[in-house]
Amino acid sequence: MAEETIFSKIIRKEIPTELLYQDDLVTAFRDIHPRTPTHILIVPNVLIPTVNDVEPEHEAALGRMFTVARKLAAKEGINDDGYRLIVNCNRHGGQEVYHIHMHLVGGQPLGAMLAR
Ligand code: AMP
Repeated sequence: MAEETIFSKIIRKEIPTELLYQDDLVTAFRDIHPRTPTHILIVPNVLIPTVNDVEPEHEAALGRMFTVARKLAAKEGINDDGYRLIVNCNRHGGQEVYHIHMHLVGGQPLGAMLAR
């Protein structure tokens, strides 16, 4: 059994957050340390620790993360200029919270994809 993270508490609304969206499969809320004017996290309600743990049964939730990203980007008014969706995995990916999540970042030019 994977260990719960703070994101499970956010999904269950046990701790305060700026909740932007929730349905039966996913939850979206603002990142507590925003790196860009828009920085939203979209997470599956079920605990999947990393991309390495993804199974076919998770495809509905993972697909929903993209449709929610599209809607939230439009709501934030950043869809025309563009934005970036990021999923970090494990140490080399820079993952800090072991509950899979998609970062939706934008609101400014984001520059090169990877720092050198
Ligand atoms: P990652 O490095 O991909 O695991 O990103 C984890 C993200 O979760 C970081 O950008 C954190 O700022 C964010 N984060 C951690 N705790 C919270 C929280 N309680 N509410 C919102 N965002 C959080």
